[in-house]
Amino acid sequence: MHDDRTLVEARLRRVLDERIRPAVYPESVPLTVGGWVAPDEPVPVAEGLAAPRTPIAVGDRWGAPWGTTWLTVEGTVPAAWAGRTVEALLDLGFDRNMPGFQCEGLVYRPDGTPVKGINPNNQWVRIAAPAVGGERVLLHVEAASNPVIMDYHPFLPTELGDKATAGDEPQYRLARMDLAVFDRTVWELVLDLEVVGELMAELPADGARRWELLRAVERALDAIDLQDVGATAAAARAELAGVLAAPAVPSAHRISAVGHAHIDTAWLWPLRETVRKVARTTANMTALLADQPDFVYTMSQAQQYAWIKEHRPEVYAEVKRAVAEGRFVPAGGMWVESDTNMPGAEAMARQFVHGKRFFLDEFGVENEEAWLPDTFGFTGGLPQIIKAAGSRWLLTQKISWSQVNSFPHHTFWWEGIDGTRIFTHFPPIDTYNCSMKGHEIAHAARNFKEKGRATRSLAPTGWGDGGGGTTREMIGKAARLRDLEGSATVRWEKPADFFAQAQAEYPDPPVWVGELYLELHRATLTSQAKTKQGNRASENLLREAELWAATAALRAGFRYPYAELDRLWKTVLLHQFHDILPGSSIAWVHREAAQTYARVAAELTGIIEAAQRALAGDGSAGRELVFNAAPHRRAGVPAGGAAPAVDRVGDCVLQPRAGGGFVLANGLLRVEVDARGLVVSAYDLAERRETLAPGAAANLLQLHPDFPNMWDAWDVDQFYRNTGTDLTGVDELVVLADKPEAVAVRVTRSFGASTVSQTLTLTAGTKRLDLDTEVDWHEREKFLKLAFPLDLHTERYAAETQFGHQFRATHTNTSWEAAKFEACNHRFVHFAEPGWGVALVTASTYGHDVTRAVRSTDRGGDGGTTTTVRASLLRAPRFPDPHTDQGLHRFRHALVPGATIADAVREGYRINLPERRMPGSGAVAPLVETDGDAVVVSAVKLADDGSGDLVVRLYEATGARNRTTLRTDLPVTAVHACDLLERPLDGAHPELRDGTVELALRPFQLVTLRLAGAGAQAHS
Ligand SMILES: [Zn+2]
Repeated sequence: MHDDRTLVEARLRRVLDERIRPAVYPESVPLTVGGWVAPDEPVPVAEGLAAPRTPIAVGDRWGAPWGTTWLTVEGTVPAAWAGRTVEALLDLGFDRNMPGFQCEGLVYRPDGTPVKGINPNNQWVRIAAPAVGGERVLLHVEAASNPVIMDYHPFLPTELGDKATAGDEPQYRLARMDLAVFDRTVWELVLDLEVVGELMAELPADGARRWELLRAVERALDAIDLQDVGATAAAARAELAGVLAAPAVPSAHRISAVGHAHIDTAWLWPLRETVRKVARTTANMTALLADQPDFVYTMSQAQQYAWIKEHRPEVYAEVKRAVAEGRFVPAGGMWVESDTNMPGAEAMARQFVHGKRFFLDEFGVENEEAWLPDTFGFTGGLPQIIKAAGSRWLLTQKISWSQVNSFPHHTFWWEGIDGTRIFTHFPPIDTYNCSMKGHEIAHAARNFKEKGRATRSLAPTGWGDGGGGTTREMIGKAARLRDLEGSATVRWEKPADFFAQAQAEYPDPPVWVGELYLELHRATLTSQAKTKQGNRASENLLREAELWAATAALRAGFRYPYAELDRLWKTVLLHQFHDILPGSSIAWVHREAAQTYARVAAELTGIIEAAQRALAGDGSAGRELVFNAAPHRRAGVPAGGAAPAVDRVGDCVLQPRAGGGFVLANGLLRVEVDARGLVVSAYDLAERRETLAPGAAANLLQLHPDFPNMWDAWDVDQFYRNTGTDLTGVDELVVLADKPEAVAVRVTRSFGASTVSQTLTLTAGTKRLDLDTEVDWHEREKFLKLAFPLDLHTERYAAETQFGHQFRATHTNTSWEAAKFEACNHRFVHFAEPGWGVALVTASTYGHDVTRAVRSTDRGGDGGTTTTVRASLLRAPRFPDPHTDQGLHRFRHALVPGATIADAVREGYRINLPERRMPGSGAVAPLVETDGDAVVVSAVKLADDGSGDLVVRLYEATGARNRTTLRTDLPVTAVHACDLLERPLDGAHPELRDGTVELALRPFQLVTLRLAGAGAQAHS
């Protein structure tokens, strides 16, 4: 037979586009439209409904960037439509290719109750089925004219990303505002033809099934009268019924679909718009659930539920009803879908505490899956946190975005740094925005790497990023794919049901050990430095506030600020969302974040100072107390306690250096700063060992061009290292301090349009060089690094992450190692040869890179290798914020020669938690004390349930098995090991004997203890 395949396929495309799809709405009449433009920010619904309207016509331009226009549409159902299905079609000027990235609206009834959201793929509002002729129609639309930030040519700089710079040019043209007859049979025919046509395209051309589908399509097209599609649609459907009834083969891949809308909590829109996005999508989804009996929808991010509860209570009531039915499923158990690279240990834990608690309190639901489809990599610390929160599964698909290496598994055990394993699934469909297209379903089946051992994968289904969610068309297609020859099978299922079945059929999948590094978006560790600093500062202040408030509550009757801390934690957790903390949002988001972090800092500082005042007693004698919030004793002050300040004595010396510059020494360390202001020697006097590579200079600022191929704020591409400039020119090198207790010099430089000044300080009694860098940054598309070439030969180094550290290679033997050319650290990176190491600690930076070099024999070396670490300070991408990071920045680092891992941990805490001084009379004993440096206290707080119990979280920080004795003088009656939500775990609890508890921890183990009765003293 002659091959007419491409001819029939082309015929299907044209007839669908030009005849059948338009026939879904065969008749329509225009609605009358009136509009009112809200003067600035969104207004309450009642105000929007009541405002006077002026006429606006289809074709008119509307909508300044970020504006809100309230539209009223009115009309009458024609008498001739009686008995038919009638819908309103509201096209605000949509571009179907960008759902969620442009204008959208929420439709209200005249009484102000929401009906559903409208977006490019969801323009209909059901009016009546069957309709009554002459029925009046009156609806209101709260239309948001959010501008397109990422256009067809993506990543071009635009000023539209902040209301302050976006201008007032109308962004849209009202396209269609009609009442229309909906022909259900034609609509079903469209779905039949789409499913058959899309499946056909995925099947082998030499297989019989493909040709069966092709012939059925041909018969269906022959059956259609192109001038009267409605009258012939049923006959066309009859021609397709046979091929659509053929069941799937027994080995067909099984897809568990779950309705979803990935809604970025802020990104190319501000937080306030997400509040409305969530309401639109959710109203849409609860309406869809009411119509579609076997549909299941899942939504993550407790914050988004909290927004609906506060801002759209009518929508929230529908959500609660659907959750109670088990069909609207809270997922993930986190406050937001956060970044996981950068949040500190406690913050990462609190994401789960606050997320899970919200779902428990509001719905009585506890998730067992972590849901992070779009997060930019996952630390080796995360598995233990997920488990300690009472969860056991993880879903993400983001690692499929890696540039270089294809991840070998889709379902696997993921093992963290402490050995905790989490059953993890990467949907092989490689998207969290499945729309039930044939190529997506076929890709999931083909791509699934567990074939032969497992049969199931998950498909989050619905328009996402900017919201939108599942459509009735996706549900219609899923119904046809339930059991269809040639396709994977599709069932709507809750994530938990999927995971339970996936684990039951595949109890022993492969194991992946260590971080899930995303080989993309590496610059998110650096972009928007102030957002990152706000996060780190907030995390540190929250630790202090909890510690001192708990101490003051139990020692001095201070009111523990439960509500304030709860609110502040949630604010900080919100800003760890995977486009805020990573620095990939529009200018508006980061401008607001800076303001919010300033408010958080002011409020937490107030709590800390009030608690310390309550503890400090009478300061009238002119004495000063030193408060130490770090988990290690320092300068005679116990960890978590306060003691009178003692005058520092020291033996620091500062001398001119031969050849220019200065020599700073303190008996432990001798540092040479040359005439260029570079550190050319850092000599460990006790170990008689040079820290720096021969002939190299540390504290060296290096400037690279940085124009990635895509994703400007997100990506740094490896070619950035091909060229660069060492910033060695000096404007000024001066002595800043020359006292026995500390010596310091300051170097100032200019480059491009920017200036930098660095202060290098050596303090008495410490083997540590403190480096304070101040940059007035006015560069474009540049990357600024701070380099430390170390005289160390090592194959791996440690970078701190949550509750421990992870190792990475210093070399690039494999493509996996080479791809990690920019990586994350928390407070330290540590490099060691056996017996001697160096730490670089940081108060706010996260990105760094590590390379190896040969010790040049002509410069005093011996041909061995050295290791260079460079902290990433600043970038200047121009999308989505065209002015990213312009202005003044301050960074604090310290180089710690001779450091063990325990020293790195201690110095990391020290640089993040400076001591505080306050007038006071007597020492403050810590609530709890531990012995040794290996087991570190991560949080001291009162229990969230208000019982007055003390909660102490500790972890083993060195990667070894360790014991510690925890002591307290509080009237504790029992000690319970708890999960992160402070619920006692099953099994044995630590034994309390005379106020002490002996603890044995495995490497990196975290332990949460609840000390019952601790508050008895305060209450008595
Ligand atoms: Zn996202």
